[in-house]
Order: sequence, then C-alpha cells, then structure tokens
Amino acid sequence: MKGMKNKYGLPEKELDSIRARDSVCVYCHKTMKKAGSEEFRGDWSTIEHLNHLPPWNNISTIAICCFSCNASRGAKRITDWFKGSYCLDKGINLNTVTTPVKDYVKKHESN
Ligand SMILES: [Zn+2]
Repeated sequence: MKGMKNKYGLPEKELDSIRARDSVCVYCHKTMKKAGSEEFRGDWSTIEHLNHLPPWNNISTIAICCFSCNASRGAKRITDWFKGSYCLDKGINLNTVTTPVKDYVKKHESN
C-alpha cells in the first residue's frame, strides 16, 4: 500500500510518524482518545493544520491536537487564537505548546 493517501491527501506513513511525535495534544498536552471512540469527543485526536490558509495537504504543517483545541481554534491564526478566552483560561500560549507549534509560529507568524 506504499503511496496510499488518505482523505487529507497526505501519505499515511508520514501521518503515522506525526501521530507518534504528537502523542499528546500539541496545544494543551491532553492525552487523546481515538476519534470515533466512546470517549468524550473533546478528547478525540484530530488532524490539525497549523496554517490557517490552504494548502491543507502539506505534511510539514500538520500536527495532532485534541478535538477541543481544534474546534476552539477553527481557522484563526495560532497567535490570534492564543489571545482568546479558551487559551487564556487553559494557560495555552507560545511558551506552553509543543515544539512543532513553536517552530511553525516562529517561521510563519512571527511578523
Ligand atoms: Zn488540546
């Protein structure tokens, strides 16, 4: 099945390595549950596009976050989302997120 792509148009193998890297939510560090499981939906693991604008099928801008963070952020820039009540309440900011998010923000949102 080499070269198989999923609905996101991403190589499944690379997605697996991202899932392994992001073993907890990249934003809130929550231990996530498999999407579709009986667990609380907010704890489900979801594919997160760090970029707020397309292209979405770019493996270098993919991370894994929990459903709650994904839904809260929506299509906002990460740095704009940090200023909202969800992140303020949970203490989520550039200092607390995981390295892939930090690197993305430094590279793409630091202007
Ligand atoms: Zn989260």
